[in-house]
Amino acid sequence: CSYVAWRFDDGISAEEIGSELEKFPYIVVDCSLKDIHTEKELKSLVNQIQKTLSVVRRYMWDERLVIAGMKVRVSAPQYPSVEDFLREKQPERVILLDPNAEEVFSGEVADCYIVGGIVDKVGNKAGTTEIIYRRLVENGFEVERRKILLRGDVVGVPDRINHITEIVLKAVLDGIDVERAIYEVQ
Ligand code: SAM
Repeated sequence: CSYVAWRFDDGISAEEIGSELEKFPYIVVDCSLKDIHTEKELKSLVNQIQKTLSVVRRYMWDERLVIAGMKVRVSAPQYPSVEDFLREKQPERVILLDPNAEEVFSGEVADCYIVGGIVDKVGNKAGTTEIIYRRLVENGFEVERRKILLRGDVVGVPDRINHITEIVLKAVLDGIDVERAIYEVQ
């Protein structure tokens, strides 16, 4: 990442470098609901995760993408569950992106953003991201939920995992308006 390289050349201390790196969030894809997917959907899920890694590489580096609950052939860290990741890294502020959340995402800065590893091709999977939320809360984790809206509606927001990740990173790291970020990823 050229931004980090520039900071290294700037003659700052290791502590300062550490705190600079902490400004970059984790993107965690929760694949715990893999069993509700068809083979075709699972292939799409893997494809979306690979594209998500390309997005993450444009802004950060591979270790900032975390895959939980499913083994995928990508060079990003993998954990048995999101809970295992949260216990190990202990991020302070965690936001779950969920189209059924009550609160709207407007670029809030967090240490970790969770995206549901869910593909909506077959059957009705409406509300499934909430299953992830309820499980995390039941397991004792403090997680905020936010929905991404375009002109006040989730309709029109691209729901692929790579697109949601790009919208979040554009808003949080580039500091651009969420609606503009949505238009830019389409
Ligand atoms: N059918 C799922 C539901 O209703 O909960 C949505 C699955 S969506 C294809 C995959 C993931 O992208 C979601 O789990 C969520 O993390 C994220 N996502 C998609 N659209 C979103 C939106 N408008 N706001 C927030 N997150 C969204």
